[in-house]
Amino acid sequence: MKRIICGFLLLASLYSCKDKPEEVIIEEKDATENIDEVVAELYGFSLKDYEVVDDTLKSGDNLGKIFGENHLDATQVYNIVTRVKDSINVRGMRIGQPYSLVKYKDNPDKLAAFIYHPNISGYQVIDLRDSITAYTITYPVTIKRRTIASKIDGSLSNSLHNEGVDQSLATRMSQIFAWSIDFFKLQPEDRFAVTIEEKYINDTVYVGISKIDAAYFNYRGKDLYSFPYQRPGAKGIDYYDEEGRPMKSMFLKAPLKFFRITSRYTKKRFHPVQKRWKAHNGTDYAAPSGTPIMSTASGVVERAGYTAGNGNYVKVRHNGTYSTQYLHMSKILVKVGQYVDQGQTIGLVGSTGLATGPHVCYRFWKNGVQVDPLSQILPTSSPMDKKDIPAFKEHVVPLKQELDKVILTKFSQE
Ligand SMILES: [Zn+2]
Repeated sequence: MKRIICGFLLLASLYSCKDKPEEVIIEEKDATENIDEVVAELYGFSLKDYEVVDDTLKSGDNLGKIFGENHLDATQVYNIVTRVKDSINVRGMRIGQPYSLVKYKDNPDKLAAFIYHPNISGYQVIDLRDSITAYTITYPVTIKRRTIASKIDGSLSNSLHNEGVDQSLATRMSQIFAWSIDFFKLQPEDRFAVTIEEKYINDTVYVGISKIDAAYFNYRGKDLYSFPYQRPGAKGIDYYDEEGRPMKSMFLKAPLKFFRITSRYTKKRFHPVQKRWKAHNGTDYAAPSGTPIMSTASGVVERAGYTAGNGNYVKVRHNGTYSTQYLHMSKILVKVGQYVDQGQTIGLVGSTGLATGPHVCYRFWKNGVQVDPLSQILPTSSPMDKKDIPAFKEHVVPLKQELDKVILTKFSQE
């Protein structure tokens, strides 16, 4: 306080050679009054008249016990609870949650209010002063927006940690770029940038990331941008590159999350069971028996059954052009005619039929012919209508500029 007054006196002396020094003195008065006000209030109670004592609800604590300890008798407690029970869930108060007692400074035995803090979003007040009242105060929520850019430091989540960002963003980023980046193979030269909105309660308590506005990766020297966007008529948000092409591919790269490719599609290979040279029309992904097998694209189950060669197998028809087939399952988990989503588990890895060990033989059909999916340029999922592109680009231009500016500042110094 003293320093502020000195500051204003200094200001006043600086201004004194000018026309109206009186105005400065008026300002000083206003400023000190404001500061008084800010410091001296807590939960709406002036600290001149009240003292606030913070505590935590312990096992065995309840409103009746706490009120009793503060010199209120059973009848008074009963009256208070009856009065406030429609405004506040008195029985919902949980052990471990903080509460505050507001006491009169001139009479510390007398309780002025009880304040319960159910969560970080606000607090509940039982005001015992004149007539008994109860109400809930919700803290204001603030959204802060920022763009960060960083190199990959060990892992994406480690880089985010270094930038002071919630590491759950790593999972969201890996989902956005899952179709174009192998996150197990990120390299130290890879870079990323992301514009996020973060939620704070009462301007101070960090809640988390509420929204991603734009994302960027430089993966093995290639620039990849991604923008969340809701197309007109679409149910939800999808991610698109700067040209409006979906980030999501129609097909997953593999029917298993973790695997080892043991045999690729080839016109000629030595069959390990039949001991002769023949074409291998599939790709073998080895994994422990019981590992979930995913449908690589959405579609309808066309076949689900058993043959001596295929063992338990499922064939999914995705559209007029593409079908996929999954062999040697230990268990089939879908029925013919059933609709399956991309990534849905349709069976479990096994070694039924002609197989030497647990694996899934993944077969990819295009126009009724088996082809090698690893050598195909596969379609993206439902592309954006041409008529929607101009509005999308208009939305994206400022977001991309914002990203590029930070990327340029961050990486041009190297
Ligand atoms: Zn095979």
